Amino acid sequence: MAFDPAAALAKIKARDAHRRRRIVEGPQDVQVAVDGRSLVNFCSNDYLGLANHPAVREAFRRGVDRWGAGSGASHLVCGHAAAHHALEEELAEFTGRPRALLFSTGYMANLGVVSALAGRGDAVFEDRLNHASLLDGGLLSGARFQRYPHADARALEAALAESRAETRLVVTDGVFSMDGDLAPLPALARAARSGRAWLMVDDAHGLGVLGGEGRGTLEHFGLDETEVPVLVGTLGKALGTFGAFAAGSEDLIDYLIQRARTYVYTTALPPAVAEATRASLRLVREEPERRERLHRNVRRFRAGAESLGFELGDLIGPIQPIVIGANAEALEASRRLGERGFLVSAIRPPTVPEGTARLRITLSASHTDEQVDGLLEALAAAVPQEA
Ligand code: PMP
Repeated sequence: MAFDPAAALAKIKARDAHRRRRIVEGPQDVQVAVDGRSLVNFCSNDYLGLANHPAVREAFRRGVDRWGAGSGASHLVCGHAAAHHALEEELAEFTGRPRALLFSTGYMANLGVVSALAGRGDAVFEDRLNHASLLDGGLLSGARFQRYPHADARALEAALAESRAETRLVVTDGVFSMDGDLAPLPALARAARSGRAWLMVDDAHGLGVLGGEGRGTLEHFGLDETEVPVLVGTLGKALGTFGAFAAGSEDLIDYLIQRARTYVYTTALPPAVAEATRASLRLVREEPERRERLHRNVRRFRAGAESLGFELGDLIGPIQPIVIGANAEALEASRRLGERGFLVSAIRPPTVPEGTARLRITLSASHTDEQVDGLLEALAAAVPQEA
């Protein structure tokens, strides 16, 4: 029998899990035009407000003038431009590693890196709430694939102790994308060391945001390359552009160039995107006040939400989800916030576990106090908490 998309869609709709896209009509900024209305955006990953920064836009424009719109080919054929190369060197320096390698998206970086570093006969251990791209990489690798309970370093240690695989890879998000909590990296690094495993961290949501210099979750915990030899970062979040990178030793990166299939078999990022990212990386380094402003907004939001009776986890980053539970209720809460002028998406399964649909609220350095207070007021009306 042929696949029946209408029947499959009906099942998705019956669970209130059907997803629709909103059409954004203007630039990504704190104030965003959607469906003919201007809403204050509290669901973007542009944590430092760089996606629409004049210096980043200008670098992008200059990049197009110099390099054209596209890269023309994969990096290994003839698509590796001087702009990519310069950005790789700057990312290596920023992350304190010998070398970095650009990928066209974070999804592809994770898929390619995990599946290049583990194969048949090996073992991959992943947090069960890892980003889909990391989990997919583990499955694709052909290695024995085990998920450990969320943030549970002891469970990981026990799983490693039982493993007979020669090569073991432990993989975790640095900041969990839908929960906003940090992985217990020091404990995971100890477990990986005692279990003779390599540790890989995807710091998509920590990079640019955490640590005094914005170098991410590893800087926050004071960890370096000896503890976390494989680091992935993305460019479409705090850096405000597009793409991703892996960073590590000379040999690691050279190996990935040979074997990461999502590196080898895809078109390189437009070089203009690399130029724009060089400008945003400069701002991350030279304007720590953006990070300070973001953290001030996070504290303001948390204090207000807690006084309204919302139970937020112990979260220090810009992702501050409010778990609602049922899909229909999360959708309704999102709709009511929209009516009050705030854009907050309802995140539903399969992105989050069944029964934990949520409002994934994200703060940005660009939000004003008034906007944060306005969101709190709207939340109080849209999602009233029992006193
Ligand atoms: N890792 C994590 C933790 C993410 O949240 C995301 C994106 N949502 C990715 C990787 C994928 O990055 P990209 O959007 O660049 O494909």
